[in-house]
Amino acid sequence: MATPVTAAPFDFAKVPHRAPMAPAARAEILANPGFGTTFSDHMVSVLYDEAQGWHGAEVRPYGAIALDPAAAVLHYAQEIFEGLKAYRLADGGIALFRPEANAARFNASAERLAMPTIPEGLFVKAVEELVKADKDWFPTVEGGSLYLRPFMFASEAFLGVRPSKQYRFLVIASPAGNYFKSGAPAVSLWVSDYSRAAPGGTGAAKCGGNYAASLVPTAEAFSRGHDQVLFLDAVERQWIEELGGMNLFFVFADGSLVTPPLGGTILPGITRESLIKLAREEGLTVREERYSLAQWQADANSGALTETFACGTAAVVTPVGKVTSERESFTIGSGGPGQLTQKLRQRLVSIQRGEAADSHGWVHRIA
Ligand SMILES: *Cc1c(COP(=O)(O)O)cnc(C)c1O
Repeated sequence: MATPVTAAPFDFAKVPHRAPMAPAARAEILANPGFGTTFSDHMVSVLYDEAQGWHGAEVRPYGAIALDPAAAVLHYAQEIFEGLKAYRLADGGIALFRPEANAARFNASAERLAMPTIPEGLFVKAVEELVKADKDWFPTVEGGSLYLRPFMFASEAFLGVRPSKQYRFLVIASPAGNYFKSGAPAVSLWVSDYSRAAPGGTGAAKCGGNYAASLVPTAEAFSRGHDQVLFLDAVERQWIEELGGMNLFFVFADGSLVTPPLGGTILPGITRESLIKLAREEGLTVREERYSLAQWQADANSGALTETFACGTAAVVTPVGKVTSERESFTIGSGGPGQLTQKLRQRLVSIQRGEAADSHGWVHRIA
């Protein structure tokens, strides 16, 4: 969709919260933030309509928004989102990790969902403005971060089936603890008979609809005692695609890695791409190629495969210990976190936190 030019630089009106959370209550949250349950004092809101393009950018108090009951998103799920983190650096500064990559992916998702793209500079500035407004919302726990959720939805009140003519772009922030406590057990995966994405579908877009479709398979995984759901390709039902919200890597005894190739049915993870680069810099061979469930089981049993890990912004890198489907069950390596998994995770986290040199220009400093 053509996007009218919005005047740059983007000026954000600032409407400070009149009654921000009391410091003592905030401190209590920041000492034990969990994930996605509490939100900072402010949010960013930017409006779009066909006549004005992007306009009305503001940082304002976090709170409920009014929505017409006929708003298109409530009926046809025209909605996309992103997830990224702001980190406190070793020197006390604040940085985002590759926010331009989130902006680019957001626009790719927008195009797939027939939504307007947003200037990358506006996307990044929106995130920066919120982090600056709520810089007192960084968790005080080791490994904590401020999780940022930019999203856009169709707000036009109209029940006809066509792309909306009005949208809202919001960014909210939530303090997040450390998912991966060192020594945490590896996760157990349930291989679902449901499909997440089909060729020609929306699998490569970060849209709420994909998640809605993954809730039943995820609930099934939980009820069977597993931690995460794994999806196979929808056509041949043998190639490994990804988890509900994380990409996968396979590590072999010869030190090489395999990760399923992008191609429309897999979400192009920024963590995935970053790890491919870091692993190659370590001198490791990384192949982006199809890998079947049957081969995975055979390789795990023979010892040719030593580790498997999932990756994504929220948990960074999560070791996989066990895999179960209706037909088979097998253990990866010793069933615990593997050595290369932990090494790659450490490499990435140390760059994100400003503890290691950032030779790729990935660390986007705000303060
Ligand atoms: C967001 C997401 C990922 C991980 O992407 P990152 O950019 O690494 O956070 C993987 N799979 C799905 C389905 C996702 O929505």
